[in-house]
Amino acid sequence: MINDTPRVRFAPSPTGYLHVGGLRTALYNYLFAKKNNGSFILRIEDTDRARYVEGAVENLLTTMKWVGLDYNEGPDKPGEFGPYMQSERLDIYREHINNLLDARKAYYCFCTPERLTQLKEEQQKQKLPQAKYDKHCLSLSKAEIENKLKNNESHVIRLNVPPTETISFDDIIRGKVEFSTNVVDDQILIKSDGYPTYHMANVVDDHLMKITHVIRGEEWLSSTPKHVLLYKFLEWELPQFAHLPLLLNADKSKLSKRQGDVAVEDYKSKGYLKDALNNFVALLGWNAGDDQEFYYMDELIEKFSLERVNKSGAVFNLEKLNWLNGEHLKKLSNDVILELFKNELASSELKNTNYSDDTLLLIIDQMKERVATVKEFISEAPYLYSRPNSYDEVFSSKVWKDNSAALLTDLIEIINESEIIDKDDYETCLKATAEKNSVGIGKLMGPFRLALSGVGHGPGVYDIANIIGKDEVVERIRVVIKTLSL
Ligand code: GLU
Repeated sequence: MINDTPRVRFAPSPTGYLHVGGLRTALYNYLFAKKNNGSFILRIEDTDRARYVEGAVENLLTTMKWVGLDYNEGPDKPGEFGPYMQSERLDIYREHINNLLDARKAYYCFCTPERLTQLKEEQQKQKLPQAKYDKHCLSLSKAEIENKLKNNESHVIRLNVPPTETISFDDIIRGKVEFSTNVVDDQILIKSDGYPTYHMANVVDDHLMKITHVIRGEEWLSSTPKHVLLYKFLEWELPQFAHLPLLLNADKSKLSKRQGDVAVEDYKSKGYLKDALNNFVALLGWNAGDDQEFYYMDELIEKFSLERVNKSGAVFNLEKLNWLNGEHLKKLSNDVILELFKNELASSELKNTNYSDDTLLLIIDQMKERVATVKEFISEAPYLYSRPNSYDEVFSSKVWKDNSAALLTDLIEIINESEIIDKDDYETCLKATAEKNSVGIGKLMGPFRLALSGVGHGPGVYDIANIIGKDEVVERIRVVIKTLSL
């Protein structure tokens, strides 16, 4: 049963960027909260000081804003259960670790790195399935511990995992999950630098922040038995767990940087729309039970349920993202696209960006049906902005004939004499030139396109002419004649 007001959280460690897997976790938490009138909390898990990355938190907050996953409480949105940065909650962890120590559910460990390495090597030699700490320090007396602490001996605090017990919990996606404590190590809860590990801080915070559902990636499933033990030792009620399937590359290996972009900001800078990215990411492991693929956020909220999340890994398919982006793009109004396009032009290396809004709207009309992203308005049709610097050989050998130069020379003259108002006027000019030379208009179309774009595909040739303007049309025809008549 879902609590009246579920509280869920996205709890990223600030590694420097938001991974698409992180976005999927954040999105599912968000959808679940919205759907069930609950709260979505952003908590920053920054207790691993060795992995501290300057600016990572700011970056994460900016990316969360861009994708539009608005949280109810977070580092920059104070709430009843703050602070929402774990590095600001150290006293809280201290209090709970003391309770665990008093109950002997946790213990000090003073073992040196050398001893631990030796232990590991011995266990490997014995071919034990998994290296585990041998509870050596559990037998230290109170006096010994106090003495060592007084002498400032380096130490950690470990979880006292009971031997040979079965830990089980229900996972909304995977059903009943069981682990034997024999495979669970005496996890470090407080590190030698005094900071808590992920496990300790995560459980304490989920409890204190009244999290009802822990929705996170499958990679955390093997940590859950440790968490379940902590809840038990601290006498706290378990939240519900839902472990989301892994994200995979096309070859079914775990999604990795080596095979493509994994940072949300990379997709942003490649010109993907946030709506398309959210739509795409929502389908990585979930479907509504039909074959619908195009969604806006509202509909995702309405249809989402954890029960319909798959167990098996979800393949990250860039072609599908491109297709979805194209679909979302087509549905935007031209005015909205115009703003995106202008931003794109401003950050591109193009020199010729002094087109009027009317001309940019002509480009939008031509390109929006042909591309996946606004960026491709430029990369897929560079000739709309600057003269072609080469002519496609296959296309030119097909269309450039002995009489092409003469026909185009006539065309220049006719264009120069005509008043050109819109694209139809170019068609009239080509027709007049064809008639004058008693040839079909087809004899002119190919060379004309070659002159304007250098390639055999793209928007309609009269549209291209209309976009680049009369002077540029004439100049490009001159250049092609000069280049190909040599
Ligand atoms: N800090 C963990 C991460 O970086 C959170 C895992 C969890 O949600 O429990 O993904």
